[in-house]
Amino acid sequence: MHSKSIQKLIKAFLGLPSVGSRTATRFALHLIKSPNEEVKTFIKAIIEAKENTKLCFFCFNPFESSGEEKLCEICSESRRDRRTICIVEKESDLIAINQLKIYRGLFFILGGTLSPLRKENIKKIRIKELLDRINNPKKYNIEQLEEIIIATNFTSEGEATALYIERVIKSSNIKITRLARGLPKGSELEYIDEETISCSFKDRKEK
Ligand SMILES: [Zn+2]
Repeated sequence: MHSKSIQKLIKAFLGLPSVGSRTATRFALHLIKSPNEEVKTFIKAIIEAKENTKLCFFCFNPFESSGEEKLCEICSESRRDRRTICIVEKESDLIAINQLKIYRGLFFILGGTLSPLRKENIKKIRIKELLDRINNPKKYNIEQLEEIIIATNFTSEGEATALYIERVIKSSNIKITRLARGLPKGSELEYIDEETISCSFKDRKEK
């Protein structure tokens, strides 16, 4: 049995995404054995990243900010097409699509997915926020949306989420598209090669 302090540290690591108890224990013991200086640098990096990072007012993308800016680099770009919005699950999916340079519209990060069986997760994803952007474009300084691209992952949770979003935004009369089916079932955007995502993006299908 580990000491109380180590158990507390393990518990903290367990709260991180994709970290199981073995990895959490390994992280905790590694830190305990590391030189003080290294641990201090590590803690400082966490605090600085947290203090200097804000979530974008429009898309929820984290960005570095020391002042009053409310929008991330992507949303602030004047050349962005403000009539199209691409909905993704998480930050890394936004990065994967944005670096392809084939899409010049806006993004929106849902912050998670729905489990096909457990609908109680609905409160955990940003559906209300998404609807607010769709229904009140002026409030966000964007134009009336012409296309909503649903780019959730091709996992069962991603599919369930896509179907749910389609249902709730259908009445808005805006064109809704979903990335084409060229992507392998169960795949996540961040692990797919650029060319495959590009094709899937270009061949997106209207719902
Ligand atoms: Zn943004």
